[in-house]
Amino acid sequence: MQRLRVTIRGAVQGVGFRPFVYRLATEMRLGGWVKNSPQGVFIEAEGPREDLDAFLLRLEREKPGLSFIQSLEYSLLEPLGYEGFRIQQSDESGDRTTVILPDVATCPRCRAELFDPSDRRFRYPFINCTLCGPRFSIIQTLPYDRANTTMKSFVMCPDCRREYSDPADRRFHAQPDACGVCGPHLSLWDSRGRTIATGDDALREAAAAIRRGETLALKGLGGFQLLADARNEVAVLRLRERKRREEKPLACMFPDLEALGHYVNISPLEKRLLLSSESPIVLLRRHPDTDIASAVAPGNPYLGAMLPYTPLHHLLMKELGFPIIATSGNLHDEPILTDEREALASIGDIADFFLVHNRPIERHVDDSVVRVQLDRETILRRARGYAPLPIILKLSLPPLLAVGGHLKNTVAVSKGSDVILSQHIGDLETAKALFAFRKVIDDLLSLYEVKPAAVVHDAHPDYASTRYAKDSGYPVVPVYHHHAHLAACMAENELEGEVLGVTWDGAGYGEDKTLWGGEFLLGDAGGYSRVAHFRPFRLPGGEAAIKEPRRTALGLLHEIFGPDALTNGLYLPPDKLAREGFPEATARLLGQMLTKGINSPITTSAGRLFDAVAAILGIRSVCSFEGQAAMMVEFQVDEEEQGHYPVNLQGSDPLVFDWEPLFREIIRERDQGTPLPVICARFHNTLVEAILEVAQKVGVRRVVLSGGVFQNRYLTEHAFRRLEGAGFRPYIHQRVPPNDGGIALGQIAIAAARMDKPCA
Ligand code: ZN
Ligand code: ZN
Ligand code: FE
Repeated sequence: MQRLRVTIRGAVQGVGFRPFVYRLATEMRLGGWVKNSPQGVFIEAEGPREDLDAFLLRLEREKPGLSFIQSLEYSLLEPLGYEGFRIQQSDESGDRTTVILPDVATCPRCRAELFDPSDRRFRYPFINCTLCGPRFSIIQTLPYDRANTTMKSFVMCPDCRREYSDPADRRFHAQPDACGVCGPHLSLWDSRGRTIATGDDALREAAAAIRRGETLALKGLGGFQLLADARNEVAVLRLRERKRREEKPLACMFPDLEALGHYVNISPLEKRLLLSSESPIVLLRRHPDTDIASAVAPGNPYLGAMLPYTPLHHLLMKELGFPIIATSGNLHDEPILTDEREALASIGDIADFFLVHNRPIERHVDDSVVRVQLDRETILRRARGYAPLPIILKLSLPPLLAVGGHLKNTVAVSKGSDVILSQHIGDLETAKALFAFRKVIDDLLSLYEVKPAAVVHDAHPDYASTRYAKDSGYPVVPVYHHHAHLAACMAENELEGEVLGVTWDGAGYGEDKTLWGGEFLLGDAGGYSRVAHFRPFRLPGGEAAIKEPRRTALGLLHEIFGPDALTNGLYLPPDKLAREGFPEATARLLGQMLTKGINSPITTSAGRLFDAVAAILGIRSVCSFEGQAAMMVEFQVDEEEQGHYPVNLQGSDPLVFDWEPLFREIIRERDQGTPLPVICARFHNTLVEAILEVAQKVGVRRVVLSGGVFQNRYLTEHAFRRLEGAGFRPYIHQRVPPNDGGIALGQIAIAAARMDKPCA
């Protein structure tokens, strides 16, 4: 038994939606209720898991003809034991105007008009209606009226004006309403900004350029995208080279669901996601031997795939009829660009052509990334389609600003019981990223009229976000990184009281000033104790180790074998040592650094353990992007293999998970010639057993899994099932990313719990 919580926004009120939900739930014998509120329709339904999945799919498939779902978010929660299903009285409290909708993918009716030669908007790339189109990316201030959007400079023609003013029309008060006569239009520029074509010609010529193997920068919905033929190896490699993005997977857009089906496996839940109004990038298991260029996602069994979600994308994909890469339009890891002049200056060397338009983008919104694991959605990057919808907590919150972490940054504000988590901002490594970070903060505070009582930040003293908080002039609340992970996962699963938090990631500043990362925390938002952690080791060169698994391997093995780790070729397999190993002098220097503890911070990182395995097995010694080595270890796993290495838990209060026996075995098996997929599976399985053993020793039934390491599907699914099988109740992230993109939510929950105490 589980409880499904669904929040639906869109044309779902006054169209017979509640009676429909009631009939469906009753027919399916689910307990629960449905309720209207100014924030949307809320549904809670309880039943066996398979029935809830079926309910969710039928909800969309069988909904009343006049209804349209602009956004649907759901979570699976603890059952409450509802008896029967009822329609609850509407909740009139709450302010409709404060709900800012995300951008909504083109609705079926607009899509039909787009391709109807008799329609006055035939092939008009900015067609939209009251149900669909841009929202968050064009809103300047509230309330949501045309004059408060970036559409204000377009004066409606008489035809559009008539539709806009007619209550019986589908475009009644559709703020971005426009047509070819009065609305935004396209231009095609060459890489120096000279106009080559306009209107439909611009679109056709842009498509022709992609077909020829050239790179197109497209001004999309929430920013620029870089597009190229995904089947053209040369085109993809050239884009990678120009963008300085060596191997990080590139997302693809497919013409339609049917075409996509030739390339990947699609489950019913994944299909729902792909066709939803959110229309995110979905990570899908790919078929072998398709015509997708190998450079799109080298060595990766998944493909990040999406379907067209704006009229412009629909037109372009119809013209092309084949998959394209659609990656964010930016310079390596900077924030996505939104302005055509800036784009020209910044990525003029990357793109051969620019397909632009004159509807300004008010704020950047990247494509979201979602994966289905354990038959449920986990959002890995929360942006277009989801931001800025609130995460509604059960308690009333003081007004707060949380500034998140350092990598994959998002920020959040609280208002009432809502936490508004910002769109993905990115790694705060560059001046441009910091600028975007500040802009998003100002934006959220003014849009939601929040005057923060405090600014919550990560306890790391050197994070740019921490400096921002301290310079803000507001009272500050520091929060430990892994505590924030724990609290974020608890908040979205509506958990109260003590739980065991398995919080595993690359690194976060810990109480003892070392880099934590393989942590078991017992507690809740109000506080925690560190009941277990991984055995610490040193990272030679600190930060440099993130991109060099061989350094991590060296540091870890130095802890076991001392200086021998350098000389006898333990840290890389003998056959890789000559090519990928450190030169003699460097190795000696690193050895000295480790022995003396110079520039070699101590860490308990779980993420780095994956890196060490990657190096020791010769899978990857140097990475081209963060997390690459860990991903490759996951992708190697032989899913049939059940074995694991010994789990060694030492001491008590805190327990220490000693990985030494594990690594001794890995090296022994490597040298014996045990297949890598078997070793990788046993490594994962050992971590799963470690989680289980710690959980058994701690003896708390509820276990939350959080932190970037739980983006690993194999680890997450196996840990979840193993815990569940042993009588524990595991929880994972759903609507909020398990990585650092989710910690702003945890920061808010923790600060609220602390500020609550003195008053209680
Ligand atoms: Zn529409
Ligand atoms: Zn018009
Ligand atoms: Fe983290």
